[in-house]
Amino acid sequence: MALIQISDPEKSTEIEKKLSVGIDLGTTHSLIAKRDGKNLTIFKDNNTILIPSIISDVNGKLIVGNSVSDDSVKSIKRLVGLTSKDIHTINFDNLQINTDQDLPRVILGGKKYNAIELSSRILSHLCEIAKNHENNFVQSAVITVPAYFNDMQRQATKLAAEMANIEVLRLISEPTAAAIAYGIDDNQTGNFIVYDLGGGTFDVSILSIEKGVFKVLSTKGDTHLGGDDFDRFLVEYLRDKYPQLSKLDINELYNLAKFLKHELSEKNTAISEKHNVSINLKEFNHLINSSVEKTIALVDEAIIDSSININDIKNIILVGGSSRLTTVKMKLNEKYNIEILDHLNPDTVVAEGAAIQAEVLSGNNRDDFLLLDVLPLSLGIETYGGLSEKVIHRNTPIPASSNKTFTTFKDGQTKMMINIVQGEREDISECISLGQFILSDIPSLVAGAARIIVRFQVDADGLLTVSAKEETINKETSIEVKPSHGLSPELIQNMISTSNNMAEDDKNFRALKESIVEAERAMYAIQEALKIDGDELLSSSELDLIEQSISTLQDAILTNSIDVIKLANVELENTCEFYVERRMNNSIKSLITGKDINDIM
Ligand code: ADP
Ligand code: MG
Repeated sequence: MALIQISDPEKSTEIEKKLSVGIDLGTTHSLIAKRDGKNLTIFKDNNTILIPSIISDVNGKLIVGNSVSDDSVKSIKRLVGLTSKDIHTINFDNLQINTDQDLPRVILGGKKYNAIELSSRILSHLCEIAKNHENNFVQSAVITVPAYFNDMQRQATKLAAEMANIEVLRLISEPTAAAIAYGIDDNQTGNFIVYDLGGGTFDVSILSIEKGVFKVLSTKGDTHLGGDDFDRFLVEYLRDKYPQLSKLDINELYNLAKFLKHELSEKNTAISEKHNVSINLKEFNHLINSSVEKTIALVDEAIIDSSININDIKNIILVGGSSRLTTVKMKLNEKYNIEILDHLNPDTVVAEGAAIQAEVLSGNNRDDFLLLDVLPLSLGIETYGGLSEKVIHRNTPIPASSNKTFTTFKDGQTKMMINIVQGEREDISECISLGQFILSDIPSLVAGAARIIVRFQVDADGLLTVSAKEETINKETSIEVKPSHGLSPELIQNMISTSNNMAEDDKNFRALKESIVEAERAMYAIQEALKIDGDELLSSSELDLIEQSISTLQDAILTNSIDVIKLANVELENTCEFYVERRMNNSIKSLITGKDINDIM
């Protein structure tokens, strides 16, 4: 008799789809979105998709969204991934800076929180909204970060997500997400300007896409330029022009300014009948002209930085609420002969792109299309003489990995300090140290014989792992780098432009240091050789001669003149020639013929 199969009703409904979302974790607003096939949902909180990135304390509970109490924190993103050392110049209310190593804390409801904890609160709230709509827990997310975010800032963002129990599928850069939302993906090729003018910040990125591979070629920006400034200019203007407004409180005045500003993105004249005020587009454009000009100058700089010919740029993609301004579009049109893409909502493009990417990454075809950002600054290690040897160069697309082989300086050296540095300059004191570790168990060999392979690996989220091993040994030592410095975009720009300006000086600095290292290596080799057979092979006057040559070279090093050092080094080699010859005769000739002084010494 055939048995009738009865399915377990609980089980069948259990085939739930895991919820993967895209999150635009913004300075002023955050958004959470989901894509399912062709359907895109942007989740609403209190009837708005733009969820204020504000955290308030209400009777000891942290609430995210419009400030519901006077005790609230705004723009926490500005602090993410920064240490107390980095933020002395940042203006932030209720900030508590402890020791230099510590994360800065913000005081809220009498308690102290760091930026990771508060960002995590925002992320939890966003997921709660999605959960309430979907009746399903958010399991994983693609979260967007500014293209200029460094390793520490990305780490911090990832950590905030983990604290909120979200698996991070990937962190992607905001301009990349915007491009994806515009359908620029898979098989496309081309270069794009992503112009992002928000409430408090302006960012421009030059993006290149080749066969589905995205690269941010350059970024420029101003962390204190945006819609908030335009509101302020407008408030000042209205106050002067309409004395009757003096009876309004400051919040009402700002609301009025914002209302008029938004009207002017669609009309030539904005009127508030209630307050009996009006302003036309020409007057308004005059107020914000210099700010908008500033953004255009930054776009120019970004184009130059990217080394892309302006004729090779396909589109300008507009992002951020303030990119709706007529002046912005007019100026971009006047200045560049490039088609502007603005048919998507500039408030939501970044979240849309993140949602699309989340759908792709959570599906089976994880590698559907590759997403790449670039390293903002070169990564390298400190070599003998205080020079930075770059292992992965600035603007290399990530994920990236690279090896370099190093060697020992001294005979019998069994340990090596690996100091990881970030920056463009040759002098490591001008770079940032990201962390260091000691590689031990190097086999005891003569100087220069050991082969130490140092491997740098930057993953798709921009996180760095450095490992080192001696070739003949299986043991590898590695660290995941959690840099102790966060870098502001200003600092990154500054480091790059300084390095450009100092390029000539740096070349000379490196040449000098290399000549010193070369001289020290020669002296060291000779001194070690003398210890072994100096007395046996040399008369005392010959020994004097060599020692005099060494001391001349030591004096030469102190002059810091490459020519003087090189000359003294050649003289030392000449002086030692007969000694080298005697050593050669003394050993098995066939083994060493044809080698240079350093191999024999
Ligand atoms: P952020 O990326 O800094 O979080 P947004 O991209 O959300 O900021 O942009 C917010 C800014 O956009 C605000 O200053 C807001 O006034 C401005 N904005 C929104 N809509 C318009 C509009 N229609 N016209 C002009 N500005 C607008
Ligand atoms: Mg934004």
